[in-house]
Amino acid sequence: MKKPAAVILFSGGQDSTVCLYWAMQEYEEVYPLVISYGHKHLVEFSAAMKIVEMAGLLPNTEFLTLPVTTLKGGTLLGQKSQATGSIADTWVPYRNMLFLTLAFNRAILIGPYTDIVTGVNAIDYSGYPDCRPDFIDSMECTAREASEKTLEIKTPLLFMSKKEIVYLGCTFQGCMEALAYSHTCYNGKTPPCGECNSCILRAKGFAEAGVKDPLIERLTYA
Ligand SMILES: [Zn+2]
Repeated sequence: MKKPAAVILFSGGQDSTVCLYWAMQEYEEVYPLVISYGHKHLVEFSAAMKIVEMAGLLPNTEFLTLPVTTLKGGTLLGQKSQATGSIADTWVPYRNMLFLTLAFNRAILIGPYTDIVTGVNAIDYSGYPDCRPDFIDSMECTAREASEKTLEIKTPLLFMSKKEIVYLGCTFQGCMEALAYSHTCYNGKTPPCGECNSCILRAKGFAEAGVKDPLIERLTYA
């Protein structure tokens, strides 16, 4: 039996798209929350719009544009990186914390049994500390303390490799078609640059799964 409702943080990227189709199997009502924060890649925003439309979720989708100076830091925003150690320099400090807070805010308005879904991944990732299970657990705990509600964060992709995420996407009707419009390139390029960390991880996942990336197929044979 499906659960009542979920707010999904949706970016228009590969993991996010698989997560969206996962959520449609799990919940009666799915509410995508697409947040633009002045980052370089408005192309991702239009990818998100196309995909929610394909998924039939456009009426449920909120497109939230934050002022460009809301978040600062990291090369994704064209700024100096604050990342240290094995964290990629594209890391935007506290972005995921802010996004989850906004998702909790929306979820509580929808109803008491609304989950939050996010496509964070702790396996094939860029070393972001805010994509790890400890952070997610602690954020869930904090949100409960802040509201006296038992909201849950669902992270279906948390322990999956990129290859497994491709396999999962293949099991959902319409997901591969939607992935043909997903956008992952950190350099905001269409066709994808093939050189950034995000492009490399995406290509690796499809190659290991033995599945052709529908985005590349679409752009090649368009
Ligand atoms: Zn790229």
